[in-house]
Amino acid sequence: MSSITGPATGSETEIAFERAAAHESLFSERAAHIKQSAVRDVFELSLDPSLVSLAGGNPYLQSLPLDKLAAMASELITNEGMTALQYGSGAGTQELRAQICEVMAEEGITGVDPDNIVITTGSQAAQDVACKVFCNPGDTVLCEDPTYVGALNTFEAYQVRTEPIATDEHGLIPAALGQRISELRADGARIKFLYTIPNFNNPSGITLAAERRSEIAEICVAENILILEDNPYGMLRYTGEHIKPLRADYPDHVIYMGSFSKILAPGLRIGWAVVPTHMYRRFYLAAEAVTLCPATFNQMLISKYLKGHDWRGQIQTYRELYAARCSAMLEALDEFMPETVSYTRPEGGFFIWVTLPEGIDTYELLAKGIEAGVVFIPGAAFSPSDAPSNQLRLAFSAVPEEKIREGVKRLAPVLARAIAE
Ligand code: PMP
Repeated sequence: MSSITGPATGSETEIAFERAAAHESLFSERAAHIKQSAVRDVFELSLDPSLVSLAGGNPYLQSLPLDKLAAMASELITNEGMTALQYGSGAGTQELRAQICEVMAEEGITGVDPDNIVITTGSQAAQDVACKVFCNPGDTVLCEDPTYVGALNTFEAYQVRTEPIATDEHGLIPAALGQRISELRADGARIKFLYTIPNFNNPSGITLAAERRSEIAEICVAENILILEDNPYGMLRYTGEHIKPLRADYPDHVIYMGSFSKILAPGLRIGWAVVPTHMYRRFYLAAEAVTLCPATFNQMLISKYLKGHDWRGQIQTYRELYAARCSAMLEALDEFMPETVSYTRPEGGFFIWVTLPEGIDTYELLAKGIEAGVVFIPGAAFSPSDAPSNQLRLAFSAVPEEKIREGVKRLAPVLARAIAE
């Protein structure tokens, strides 16, 4: 047998196998908890043109002013290249942090000091930093049931116990939250934070009702549980009244996470966290330890874009586009779905959550959906237990209206057959 340190003998495959076996014992316990996202699993399928993919929640970027962005990027290199290509502050540029305050003011979060903002590599990185700063293995975090798969994977990687809290069509149920906290406390749980996506939840599309927001915040304050408010879709409301984020009224208890991914472009990988002053230093240092600083060039490009382009108009364009796609999907669902299938009617965001009769496992329908030419994400992906689920997520953001209709039309008989069986 060849040794990994000694000279290699045997076939290349044998050597590779032995090397992998020897290295296995070197992995951390954490590495065993790092999972592939179910969304990423089916991502490849969205590239097959014969399939209609209602799986991925990609933003639709065709309406972006690419010429203008290209000119801005070129100017940036030519005129400010030495700064744009250099390391910067670990918390992000002062200019962009000030502009982020203006962006958040649109949603009713006012009076934020830019020095409470940490710019991150997408808001995904802010979730990771929050776990790093607050969670020891075995700690508990609370979340909506269902919730964002990317956050579940982050929690899992930090070896925390993730407790889903019941929701209904108005979002997280305050009484269920209170009751679960009491049960968990009785069980000795160390609860660190509630992770919530109050607007147009991924995957459910549901929005937390205004009157529940303060009720939930008060429960968390009384129980000394922080709130991690994840709001990447908040500005993409296309119907109904805007509801203030929890951060607006509870600045000392909420870590708020925002992102340019859905209001501009995800490839820039720029998000942010607003962190209460008393925890800011630790949060910022943890962020800095991972990335040194967020991408300077991308931050400066976004600053130029916010100064030199009608960004509010761009968001309005996105809203109109997604509103039309959401309507197309709802119309198709109304027309084609069997009666025993129900679904949410989102007021914004990218997703519709479909519920089949109990006892059907949507994971088992995935292959049948693909055979019929349509892809979706099975509901189990959005639960920390991975338990079989009779629900599934449809995304309408990246698909033109006619294709959405075709996708739903292909999906309906697959669901009808499963119900009839
Ligand atoms: N939170 C939610 C609810 C999301 O849906 C996503 C992306 N799909 C993220 C966070 C991560 O976004 P970002 O691109 O800012 O990392």
